[in-house]
Amino acid sequence: MTHPFLDLAPLSAARFASIEDRVARLLSTEQDVVIMQGEALLPLEGAIRAAAGPGTTALNVVTGPYGQTFGDWLRDCGATVVDLAVPFHTAVTAAQVRQAFAEHPEIDFVSLVHAEAATGNTNPVAEIGAAVREQGALFYLDAVASVAAEPVLPDAWGVDLCVIGAQKAMGGPAGVSAVSVSERAWARMAANPRAPRRSYLSLLDWKERWVDGGRTALPHAPAQLEMLALEACVERIETAGLDTVTARHRCAAAATRAGALALGGGLEPYVHAAAEAAPVATTLRAPAGVTASELVADALAADPALPLAAGGGALAKEMIRVNHYGADATRASVEACLAALGGALARKGASVDVGAARLAAAEAWR
Ligand SMILES: *Cc1c(COP(=O)(O)O)cnc(C)c1O
Repeated sequence: MTHPFLDLAPLSAARFASIEDRVARLLSTEQDVVIMQGEALLPLEGAIRAAAGPGTTALNVVTGPYGQTFGDWLRDCGATVVDLAVPFHTAVTAAQVRQAFAEHPEIDFVSLVHAEAATGNTNPVAEIGAAVREQGALFYLDAVASVAAEPVLPDAWGVDLCVIGAQKAMGGPAGVSAVSVSERAWARMAANPRAPRRSYLSLLDWKERWVDGGRTALPHAPAQLEMLALEACVERIETAGLDTVTARHRCAAAATRAGALALGGGLEPYVHAAAEAAPVATTLRAPAGVTASELVADALAADPALPLAAGGGALAKEMIRVNHYGADATRASVEACLAALGGALARKGASVDVGAARLAAAEAWR
């Protein structure tokens, strides 16, 4: 008997290349798209190690935990790092980025996270991209949490290295990821003697052995199940329409925000301005005197399948995350999360109105 996950025919180079082409179309990019055989941290780290070195001065924008990680990698590569940290309840502005360029004209690399699922904010990449182009710096973007939740347009925005993963709004697998690479980025890597080579992290290996060879022979056996899952999830997005999928995420975020405010009990959006709140996930601030992780645990006790989580690390005390992405970008899922949080708050003695929350969510969805 054949098994659905086993006994598969080998994935051909042509099929692999066609999946890359479909990912490129999803990003409206003419750049080379390389699908990496690992979770998104692989191209995120590989791109930094390839493009940055001791001669690099990097502006590292920190709007959440991933920005902190990128700063560590950049320093590890020998780059001089200028950190631009903004509070997690807000977004960075193009004016702040321009100010950093004015103070450090030698900046030649910018790392930015588009949307942070972990903190619930999203940054204005189009405006920042214009500033980065004026500076002439290489622009590295983590779009893992934004792709399929909001527009991601590396070519239009001048992004040189744009990393995506399928496990958030794309509703796909976590085991493979992709990066689009501009000509400028390839040139920067080729000129960097410390760029990884003959290494799992190496983007240049993929360029030389795959892209430059016309994508006719795969350098290694691909992660076949994940590649098939990635193809299926891109196909599902193509069928529904990318605009429809991003609209569902935008509606889910608006509904969660409005619903949480209408719920009462002291729950508040964690990101102050709605325009800076990420469509992929909504973060909420727990009411004074309530520990977010306890509230979430109580809400999940009734329905463990809900896409609720507490913030990571120190944020676990105050931050609630509603991960309304992928299959959970639905009205039903948002309303179930609001009802579960309402129930948990009521058990803490708070006065909440779940009916009003549902109504506000339904209205905001439209
Ligand atoms: C989710 C996410 C990733 C991928 O990392 P995981 O630890 O696998 O979730 C990378 N960057 C950002 C901004 C993310 O939100």
